[in-house]
Amino acid sequence: MEKNIRDKYQAVIGLEVHAQLLTKTKAYSSDLNEYGARPNTNVSPVTLGHPGTLPVMNKKTIEYAIRLGLATESAIAEHQHFARKNYFYPDLPKGYQITQDTTPICTGGKIYIPSENGEEKVIGLTRIHMEEDAGKSIHDVDVFDTLVDLNRAGVPLLEIVSEPDIRSSEEAYNYLSEVRKLVRYLDICDGNMEEGSLRCDANISVMLKGSTVFGTKVEVKNMNSIRNVQKAIEFEINRQIEAIEAGEVIAQETRSFDALKGITISMRSKEAANDYRYFPEPDLPPIVVRQEQIEEVRKEMPALPRELFLKYTGMYGLSDYDARNLTDSKDLALYYEDIVKETKNFKGAANWVMGAVKSHLNQYGLEVSEFPVSAKNIARLVEIVDEGKVSASIANQKIFPELLANPESDPLQVAESLNLIQDSDESSIQTFIEEVIKQHPAEVERYRNGEKQLVGFFMGQLMRVSGGKADPKAANSLLRKSLEE
Ligand code: ADP
Ligand code: MG
Repeated sequence: MEKNIRDKYQAVIGLEVHAQLLTKTKAYSSDLNEYGARPNTNVSPVTLGHPGTLPVMNKKTIEYAIRLGLATESAIAEHQHFARKNYFYPDLPKGYQITQDTTPICTGGKIYIPSENGEEKVIGLTRIHMEEDAGKSIHDVDVFDTLVDLNRAGVPLLEIVSEPDIRSSEEAYNYLSEVRKLVRYLDICDGNMEEGSLRCDANISVMLKGSTVFGTKVEVKNMNSIRNVQKAIEFEINRQIEAIEAGEVIAQETRSFDALKGITISMRSKEAANDYRYFPEPDLPPIVVRQEQIEEVRKEMPALPRELFLKYTGMYGLSDYDARNLTDSKDLALYYEDIVKETKNFKGAANWVMGAVKSHLNQYGLEVSEFPVSAKNIARLVEIVDEGKVSASIANQKIFPELLANPESDPLQVAESLNLIQDSDESSIQTFIEEVIKQHPAEVERYRNGEKQLVGFFMGQLMRVSGGKADPKAANSLLRKSLEE
């Protein structure tokens, strides 16, 4: 599409996210909630909604909802009412889901996302409510039949509904990344979009720039990664603009994203939309969330990514880039936290985590919990470099690999036993300098004729002949002096 046409329009986006909760049992029964169990093994009469069975609220679901509510600065309702959402589908044995229709547990929350100008943008949350998942229809295992696995039926979900505050596919990408980070930090959901434990429906409309009236929204489903949500939105914005430019009227409908083709396809129109005939759930009495209960959850709240980000960019003086990198994964951030308990060189510690540590993890596909070297030993590495005992490159290339092999060793002792302690003794450095000067008379001549940038070349040679052990600071000034003579 031509840029000037696209530039006439403003996209408006609101996202609905379903997060499967990491509880031991299901939302309203004691059936286990385990991903990957043999199909239809965690299915009791309660999950099937047989006559005479009664749902019982899982307290953990409420606790997790409160955690997310507190983390998003939401108002948390005192009385939890439940409703039945009725529809017929093979993977819904009860014929209804128990959900919160008009009385969500959380309202008015906020998600902070990074925005283009480097500042924060706030995306409002309309609501977060508790509900249960349906079973799973599997279409691609049997050639002839659709198979149904009811293990997922009754798994607790939180539905997180955003305000239509998102204005581009990049903002949607950032929003989902932040939501995923948050549920992972809170240990309430594994955030795995590929496995469906975090799912997103995107509502998208476009309007002329400067307009205050939103266009008709289209809902897009079936994106199994954050990147695909972004792609689906991007496609949909262009499709709607082209339709409007061609004089068409956007119909309110639900569309499905085809990841292979990168397009959205109409599923059903508004006229064919479901009427769920909500009514109050008669088997589950309202549940009261007391203020003391909220305070208990508040006391147990972990550090959140945004708090850490603000601490790193503020107190620790790290760049936004470094701080975001460190806080992307909770485990990595906590590892960094452990290092900076032992050293005040925050930037030095960050460099180790984002450099050597992270690339080792990536190379071997390891989790932080599987990383052999203790945070304390990384702090020792930072320290001995700062003290000038070894150079940064020696620490990286010689001592770090040795620590990976023998994680219990003390970095300084490793340096000593491998004879890597940096030489800041002037007379021995001077001996190396003499050697370098003797080996490179032509370069010395050029340096003396004004090519001062050759000092870098001489430093390199000096490091080579000294086996990397010459203290660069001392060496640099001695070298310059010798070259000037
Ligand atoms: P529905 O009643 O169809 O479910 P809601 O008003 O509950 O619609 O909104 C569902 C989602 O759609 C929310 O995330 C909301 O922010 C978003 N939304 C609402 N109106 C628009 C719009 N005109 N354009 C884009 N998104 C919208
Ligand atoms: Mg709605």
